[in-house]
Amino acid sequence: MMMRFSDCNTRNVTIRIVLLACFYLFSQPSYPQEIYPEKQAVLDYLSKPYILEEYGKISDAIWSFAELGLQEYRSSELLANTLEEAGFEVERGLAGMPTCFVATCGSGKPVIGLLGEFDALPMLSQKGRVPEQDPLLDGAPGHGCGHNTMCTAAAAAAIAVKQAMDQFNIKGTIKVFGSPAEETIISRPYMIRAGLFNGVDAVIDNHSSSKFGTSYGKGGNAVFSTIFTFRGSTAHSAGSPWSGRSALDAVELMNIATNYLREHLHYTYRMHYIILEGGEAPNVVPDKASVWYYIRNTDERVESMYKRVIDCAKGAALATGTELADIRCLTAVHQKHANQAAAELFQKNIELVGMPEWTDKEEAFAKALQKNLKKEETGMPDKVDSLKAPTGVAVGGGSTDVGDVSLIAPTATILFPGAVPGAIAHHWSTVAGNYGSTAWKGLNAGAKAIAASAIDLLIKPEELKKLQDEFENYSKNHPYKSLLPEDASPPLDLNKELMEKWRPLMEEFYLDHQ
Ligand SMILES: [Zn+2]
Repeated sequence: MMMRFSDCNTRNVTIRIVLLACFYLFSQPSYPQEIYPEKQAVLDYLSKPYILEEYGKISDAIWSFAELGLQEYRSSELLANTLEEAGFEVERGLAGMPTCFVATCGSGKPVIGLLGEFDALPMLSQKGRVPEQDPLLDGAPGHGCGHNTMCTAAAAAAIAVKQAMDQFNIKGTIKVFGSPAEETIISRPYMIRAGLFNGVDAVIDNHSSSKFGTSYGKGGNAVFSTIFTFRGSTAHSAGSPWSGRSALDAVELMNIATNYLREHLHYTYRMHYIILEGGEAPNVVPDKASVWYYIRNTDERVESMYKRVIDCAKGAALATGTELADIRCLTAVHQKHANQAAAELFQKNIELVGMPEWTDKEEAFAKALQKNLKKEETGMPDKVDSLKAPTGVAVGGGSTDVGDVSLIAPTATILFPGAVPGAIAHHWSTVAGNYGSTAWKGLNAGAKAIAASAIDLLIKPEELKKLQDEFENYSKNHPYKSLLPEDASPPLDLNKELMEKWRPLMEEFYLDHQ
């Protein structure tokens, strides 16, 4: 009996220990935080008030330049010079794009890449930190996606990591990929084609947000961005219309055909177009017209959808007696597949850094903006997000050229805060909030999470191996093949005229007067 009692007692004690251990384990934060000297060094450097201000001012300068894709001369130069002055070796004008650069420090393996964007959007000019629509220069471009903060955060992180590499003799290479024209999803497939990402072991991407978080899995849509141009023949529109062939008719008929096509596309698709050219006067039958399409779907469906849209164009040309003179693909990218091991590592560092503290003035601005947008007046965010798993349901949506990068190296994106929750993307409200103090603090928090993650990947081969093993496994079934047609080249002319129109006016009215 004694034995049995004691047996039972032992079992009870064991169960209690297991339960206590379980309680202890599950009551701990899901990502135990570890700060070792190399990581502490990058966090300390980025915590200095003058460093927050230095990169804040770079972000504000890029916000003011508000340069459209492939025209980001001042923004790109400011970032490249900042990295060069910090001891990075900078190559400029890469992959056929004058504003593309790669800044490198260190040598040998591992090679950690940081992505950075800096282009603006058309028509979004807005005064910074003014909570109602009030353009700096009506109709001019503006930073409606926060890209002014993004390559700035990557540069700040890279410079912090370089200092730690020098101080602690850390081996490896850091590369900052200055990536133009993300808003038009252009640069990365060309940068990959030019071999710029060869040998990169892992990539830390970032994006401005009102959140501080990351996610993994497949998301967004693949896309073809293509201009269709038709040629007809001119005639007097009233005197002898029978002798003309209207290229505008072909554009209109193509659009009717694609709008009927929508019914028979898988629901993951998105498709939108603008007419670029449609003649110059109603009394001259237009002999040239062109239409610019974004044709989006999942990786599995986008190429067959693209072929069907081309058939719509061919049919329109046949019906109108015009010629489909040119199909110019500006860019084509895959869906993004964020690496889970990378996202888990980034999440630990996001939690380590934590949400910035906002002042009463910043909270008041956020609430005023939210009120004007008729959104809930929640102010600035106070907690970091938890790690987002994929939903498992593809619902389509937008695209990013980070998609292609994610198929050639393990990649995930750190979303960093600074934007006002409820502000609308590609809208004046986002331009208003991505300037000044909240943007400075947000990009600083982002830079800390990027730098801390880069340090982990440089110092801990076992962490990097997790990313690479997952990536190799995924790549077996998803080998990278560019969607770019062989003859495609970066469309350097795309925003040239617009920027030539706005740049002198921006310079006259507010740039260079600050
Ligand atoms: Zn963006």
